[in-house]
Amino acid sequence: MGISAEAQEEEKVLTVEKRWTLSDFDIGKPLGRGKFGHVYLAREKKSNRIVALKVLFKSQLKQSQVEHQLRREVEIQSHLRHPNILHLYGYFYDQSRVYLILEYAAKGELYKELQKCKYFSERRAATYVASLARALIYLHGKHVIHRDIKPENLLIGVQGELNIADFGWSVHTFGRRQTMCGTLDYLPPEMVESVEHDASVDIWSLGVLCYEFLYGVPPFEAKEHSDTYRRIIKVDLKFPPKPVVSSAAKELIGQMLVKDSSRRLPLHKLLEHPWILQNADPSGIYRG
Ligand code: AMP
Repeated sequence: MGISAEAQEEEKVLTVEKRWTLSDFDIGKPLGRGKFGHVYLAREKKSNRIVALKVLFKSQLKQSQVEHQLRREVEIQSHLRHPNILHLYGYFYDQSRVYLILEYAAKGELYKELQKCKYFSERRAATYVASLARALIYLHGKHVIHRDIKPENLLIGVQGELNIADFGWSVHTFGRRQTMCGTLDYLPPEMVESVEHDASVDIWSLGVLCYEFLYGVPPFEAKEHSDTYRRIIKVDLKFPPKPVVSSAAKELIGQMLVKDSSRRLPLHKLLEHPWILQNADPSGIYRG
């Protein structure tokens, strides 16, 4: 009997050089809970390496029809190697669960840090923005668009380095795309309007993130979805008087949040911007 194309695809994606099983790991404390399962601290027995083990329930993945998205996420993330991209070491599965072996980000979610501090200093914001720009340059060089850059998808590593952690909405692309995805607040006009988009969507989201780091709220926030939508389309960008933010930072944000995607500041130019040069820690690590 022949194997279906889907089964072949699954076999291809889930076959790795090393066949991991749960018995390869000592399982430690829970690190968090996601939509489709739990994340645990774990130690790989042979290497003693500390990892984060993400356990996803197949039934929930099926029910939400995200198996395809997960496969794409795993396929993309396992081929990436960058200091600001969370490493996916491998994956395995049993009858009811899928396990992802991830780099452990000891300092947790950036989102929580931002909530705790309300907003970041210019030094901290610039260090993070420069790290993310470098990670995005690497991704775009591999023809990967992230499409969902936001605080919830960023984790802080043991030394304070920022890691892009979630590739659920990313795509491997050689052309222009036209799907609607991601969270409204971070979406650029061309995605909100469902017209074609390319890697410059990530420059827009980085501009939104830079604003949020400095002001504590995303720039187009509104009570109603429809108002956020309208503000994005108009690029209704306002800088409140408090907290006080330098004019260099505001200028940089203005150069990223440009409606015409071809006129957004290219990422390598962002790294040369005076605000980045004056504020970002050259090590790429914010030490507090
Ligand atoms: P997720 O299912 O990816 O949303 O993960 C749920 C929660 O687990 C996150 O919000 C984090 O607090 C935690 N977590 C996920 N991955 C890691 C990791 N690699 N290192 C440390 N904590 C993590």
